[in-house]
Amino acid sequence: MEIDMKKVLVCEDEAAIRDFVVINLQRAGYEVVEADSGEAALKKYDENGGDFDVAILDVMLPGIDGFQVCKELRGKNGGLGIIMLSAKTQEMDKVTGLMLGADDYVSKPFSPSELLARVDSLHRRVSLAQANAENNFKEELHSGDFILNLRNRALLKNGETIELTQVEFQIMEYFFSNPGETLDRTDILRHVWGDAYVGEEKIVDVNIRRLRMKVEDEPSNPKYIVTVWGLGYKWDTNN
Ligand code: CA
Repeated sequence: MEIDMKKVLVCEDEAAIRDFVVINLQRAGYEVVEADSGEAALKKYDENGGDFDVAILDVMLPGIDGFQVCKELRGKNGGLGIIMLSAKTQEMDKVTGLMLGADDYVSKPFSPSELLARVDSLHRRVSLAQANAENNFKEELHSGDFILNLRNRALLKNGETIELTQVEFQIMEYFFSNPGETLDRTDILRHVWGDAYVGEEKIVDVNIRRLRMKVEDEPSNPKYIVTVWGLGYKWDTNN
């Protein structure tokens, strides 16, 4: 296994904000590659052989926007941690970004400690998943028509592969380990995002919505990921 380089790709067109992010990440021990546009970020991602744990992407950029960068990076690497930076007024953008495969978002303005908490938490999850993929003796979990492959983080439904992001994989792993049990949002948030997570529980719902689009026969009428009103969600394959 390679030495953990803790490498972060930062894409932000405003030099002052970019410098602020870069300096704080470097102080916290991250190796940072910076880009001032989406095009530059994609180029640098490839030039570095995709060797990143986390990418921080501003939404509003001069050329292609942060959502497009997110979509393309997610297409290249399902295990990359992606955090979107958005202005507070872009409420809808948060959801759009998360639907395109981002793992988290941070609203501007943000403090260095807030950003670092998010990056650290995501980085921990990404490394843990990488370590699990290398060390896991049990290679797959079975549940109904589904098989969750713990090595390549892929989900199979009736033999067909469903690509999952890091967060989606961890939610599915949690569901598969607790079939038929109601898991409340706080449990899911704590289990997947970690105790140190400072964001909102809404992020759980957004990821569940995205997962349903991938796993359900009819996403609007879910039968596998069932909502337990007022409580949370339940993984159910007995129907
Ligand atoms: Ca910007």
